[in-house]
Amino acid sequence: MGCNVALITADPAAIGRMSCNPAIGGSAKGHLVHEIDALGGVMGQLADATGIQFRLLNRSKGPAIWSSRCQSDSVAYARAAADLVAREPGLLVVAADAIDFVPDPGAPVGRLILADGQELACRRLVVCSGTFLNGVLHTGEAAQPGGRVGERPATGLSTAFERLGIVTGRLKTGTPPRLRATSVDFAELAEQPGDAEPLPFSHRTDRSRFPLLRQVSCHITHTNATTHLELERGFDRSPMFTGKIQAPGPRYCPSIEDKIVRFPDRTGHQLFLEPEGLDSELIYLNGFSSSLPAEVQSAALRTIPGLRDAEVVRFGYAVEYDYFPAYQLDLTLESKELRGLYFAGQVNGTSGYEEAAAQGLLAGINAARAVRGEQEFVLGRDQAYIGVLIDDLVTKPSHEPYRIFTSLAEHRLILRQDNASRRLAQHGVRMGLLDADRGQQVAAEQLAIDTLLSALETTRVTPAAANSWLQSLGTSPLQAAETLATLARRPEVGLQGLNRMQELPLAIKDLMATTPDATLAAGAIELKYQGYVRRESAAMARMQRLEGMRIPPATDYESLAALSNEAREKLARLRPRTLGQAARMAGVSPADVSVLMVWLRGRGRAPVAVN
Ligand SMILES: Cc1cc2nc3c(=O)[nH]c(=O)nc-3n(C[C@H](O)[C@H](O)[C@H](O)COP(=O)(O)OP(=O)(O)OC[C@H]3O[C@@H](n4cnc5c(N)ncnc54)[C@H](O)[C@@H]3O)c2cc1C
Repeated sequence: MGCNVALITADPAAIGRMSCNPAIGGSAKGHLVHEIDALGGVMGQLADATGIQFRLLNRSKGPAIWSSRCQSDSVAYARAAADLVAREPGLLVVAADAIDFVPDPGAPVGRLILADGQELACRRLVVCSGTFLNGVLHTGEAAQPGGRVGERPATGLSTAFERLGIVTGRLKTGTPPRLRATSVDFAELAEQPGDAEPLPFSHRTDRSRFPLLRQVSCHITHTNATTHLELERGFDRSPMFTGKIQAPGPRYCPSIEDKIVRFPDRTGHQLFLEPEGLDSELIYLNGFSSSLPAEVQSAALRTIPGLRDAEVVRFGYAVEYDYFPAYQLDLTLESKELRGLYFAGQVNGTSGYEEAAAQGLLAGINAARAVRGEQEFVLGRDQAYIGVLIDDLVTKPSHEPYRIFTSLAEHRLILRQDNASRRLAQHGVRMGLLDADRGQQVAAEQLAIDTLLSALETTRVTPAAANSWLQSLGTSPLQAAETLATLARRPEVGLQGLNRMQELPLAIKDLMATTPDATLAAGAIELKYQGYVRRESAAMARMQRLEGMRIPPATDYESLAALSNEAREKLARLRPRTLGQAARMAGVSPADVSVLMVWLRGRGRAPVAVN
């Protein structure tokens, strides 16, 4: 965005390092990657350039929840990320530990103090310290300071922010063992190949050369009752069960020991063997995250088909770290307490590369715009999964690491991967992250879809013209004239199927022939969801009205006697920015929302558009 940025990192060689699974995307996470790409972020490009297996998940379900996932060559991914950082004008990498922050009421927001004694005056600061703040690594009874295996923790910053009034908490996450590929008996395992026709994440990827790297398979195996017995033998030395780890971990991504305790009736759990890269000898054992003692992990692995002789290169471990509960942030990810300071990524209580990247992008955009005195940039829940993610984070405090799911988006039929650019590219152009050509390209695609759909909506066919053809497709005949759009919505017909109708009006035939295949495919999905979108628009308009009503940050909730006690306490703590945000908070009832609305109207505040 044209700003001068110092990227301070303890270890520049670790830029782009994948702490955990060598994969990008997945259910709902794939949507985030498409949205990041649509706005002009680079995660999709990096994934496309370094993916060794691409799959579109949830294909058996509706297109709204189709999610892209790729297995990444983790070494190539980090290299590609580091190259990109090195080539970016205005971006200076500073190799140092940041240990303190001193706020400054003047133009710069404060000074960041580095361990070597240097001080950096910053006009805006984005803190994205991941799992490193006071990080402790656990394997069995052994615990040692660390942010990630082989990397030291970051100390000082948490205390500095606590001193300045920011609340901190503690979370944990874990990672499974890495196995030596040559020691695995793949013949015993089920193979899981990628898609025959892989699809890229990024609009910038040249499809004629995609995929760039050789594609490989993953493999599947299962734990069994003997594995579980072996693991249970180590439970009395598990830092999770002995109370050494107090911090909550991600419920949706439990360790293998957690799974055994939580699902005692299950006699087996599925495990995926995922290669870490084309030239890497490491296999990531997805589903076997563990912080049990190394010898317990070893003994249990020997009971699993295909892994009887498996050599463990690195044992699973858990990491406990400080985070800053995100209710302390605005929807721009700026701290409410310390203006000019933004927080993004794992440090906000999330888990996952994609969640971190989405927040980094939004925090970065807002920091840059604030420096230039420009209006903030917020995405609504009806605009993007990024909007859902950030709104959930700042509005609904969670006590465990947060990850995105499609079920969290109330407008998920609108927030699809296929329309990410049509939803968001104009914002990317406005932010200066995409060039105008891209904006025009996306606008042209939208126009082509709208033209086609409106032609289908306004062209009717009679039973005489369509019935013999419909009969040949095995679908019911028309009783009266219907629009082509209604016909095309029939699963047996479909948009492309219309082309095979003899009596299709010439104008429509021509229109379809001149519309690119990708646009036709996008049009078919829009057509499918059109009715829903129309029905939803009233609810979305209502939500936007609430979102447009801003609540002054200094509101004295104590003086609003008509609020319930619970709402008053929660509103005072979270200080929502808009009435929409207040309405989504747990403990704030519709009656409380009405009280706030009447009060806001009484103050004569005209609704102000957030975006
Ligand atoms: C053991 C482990 C297991 C994980 N398991 C999963 C999982 O199963 N599923 C999942 O989705 N995600 C998992 N993750 C999380 C995933 O790695 C993170 O969500 C993601 O990497 C977070 O990105 P980030 O940019 O917030 O921070 P990170 O990727 O952690 O990067 C933080 C960077 O900041 C630097 N840094 C921190 N503090 C300072 C300082 N004071 N001074 C200078 N530099 C500093 C660090 O050196 C590091 O380079 C796991 C992470 C770990 C470590």
